[in-house]
Amino acid sequence: MRIYFDYSATTPVDKQVLDAMLPYFTEFYGNASSIHQFGQEAHEAMDKSRKKIAAKINANYDELIFTSGGTESDNLAIKGVAHAVHKKLKKNHIITSKIEHHAVLNSAKSLENEGFRVTYLDVDREGFVDLNQLEKTITKDTILVSIIYANNEIGTIQDLEEIGKICHEKNVLFHSDAVQAFTKVPLDVKRFNLDLVSLTAHKIYGPKGIGALYIRHDLQQENLIQKMIDGGGHEFNLRAGTENIPGIVGFAKAVEITTSTHIQQMTRLRNYLIQRILVEIPDSRLNGPNIKTKGDKRLCNNVNISFKGINGQELLLQLDKEGIAVSTGAACIADSVEPSHILQAIQLTPEEGALGTIRASLGKDNTKEEANYFIEKLKDIIHKLRKN
Ligand SMILES: *Cc1c(COP(=O)(O)O)cnc(C)c1O
Repeated sequence: MRIYFDYSATTPVDKQVLDAMLPYFTEFYGNASSIHQFGQEAHEAMDKSRKKIAAKINANYDELIFTSGGTESDNLAIKGVAHAVHKKLKKNHIITSKIEHHAVLNSAKSLENEGFRVTYLDVDREGFVDLNQLEKTITKDTILVSIIYANNEIGTIQDLEEIGKICHEKNVLFHSDAVQAFTKVPLDVKRFNLDLVSLTAHKIYGPKGIGALYIRHDLQQENLIQKMIDGGGHEFNLRAGTENIPGIVGFAKAVEITTSTHIQQMTRLRNYLIQRILVEIPDSRLNGPNIKTKGDKRLCNNVNISFKGINGQELLLQLDKEGIAVSTGAACIADSVEPSHILQAIQLTPEEGALGTIRASLGKDNTKEEANYFIEKLKDIIHKLRKN
């Protein structure tokens, strides 16, 4: 048996997505910038795809640019805006949180090295950003607030509407990395007052290497964002390079085929797994939002559990031997095992099992039988590891 529970790392390409993409490799292979028919076919496919994805987040067609993925989108949003606003208005301060993806965190660190000031907001024990601290931290010098919508490791879904209100009142720009949340949680750029949003295809059954950045119209017009890749005038002059048409078409198809049924299925399986593991395995602890009190604030496919006295990497390898793929919240850094920056931010201690943490992230096709098999193996392995 081979069971994949690592859909937050990446997903397979859906068959419908692949079928939509294939003709754009071999038949409609034109360069979207070319004026002849081959080029126009590619351009039309790109236009249609852009419209579909933009509509999904209530954005206009010309507010969405394609990139190589979530990482590039985060880099462009944060560095591109920081550099442009610094140049234009001499502002110097960025606010983000302690539980961002490395693409955001290291973009902020890179700005710090250039002389920008960065505030990393605290989160509570379930991973929610402290909104009072956010409000107090914003100054006249603040350029941008960047907060992840749904956390990739512990599944916490932030209140973007509230954060957007604060940013709007204080007149600072607002970016969100919505890579994990996209198509799983409502995302409305207008209602949330968002200026920038990062998306990627390969976490939603689309291909790898294609993503998008939503950039509110005014930012483009008022020169509040600076491009990072020079070249031709592609993507409204914000991201040069011949467009990846098969990827773009696949991305749009992936968005189109998402359904609420899948979300309900994953939520049920998530709750089943969490409830059984917490009851049946002693000294286990759920990280991220409580499913009884804040179930709707937890990503529908996220299970993150710590086991006291267990080494997460060892557990991962033992599960892998049984054909089960999960990920761990601790990494080997220079010969010592350290909890991830996210587990550190929620102040998870080694006594609580910080070093014995695994994430099982579910997909639309996972079954209850797979969940049962996983739980049995997990129980066996943990029992054995604790006896050693
Ligand atoms: C996967 C992921 C990214 C990176 O996206 P890529 O397309 O792999 O570059 C960024 N942010 C979050 C939250 C992610 O889960």
